[in-house]
Amino acid sequence: MKMSTYEILCCPVCKGDLELKVVEKTVLESGEEDVIEGTLRCQKCGVDYPISGGIPNLLPQNK
Ligand SMILES: [Zn+2]
Repeated sequence: MKMSTYEILCCPVCKGDLELKVVEKTVLESGEEDVIEGTLRCQKCGVDYPISGGIPNLLPQNK
């Protein structure tokens, strides 16, 4: 998930901002950072959305 993608993402439930926690990332040839593994957390909902294999999963999560 590119950092430019992260900037336009919001929580699918409340449309709030997501906090990015990076576990593994790489840098693309363009110089842009690409998150491979991590989580996107909505503090309002208290829900973590996983990023796996570079793909953010923004489907509503079961608690
Ligand atoms: Zn939310």
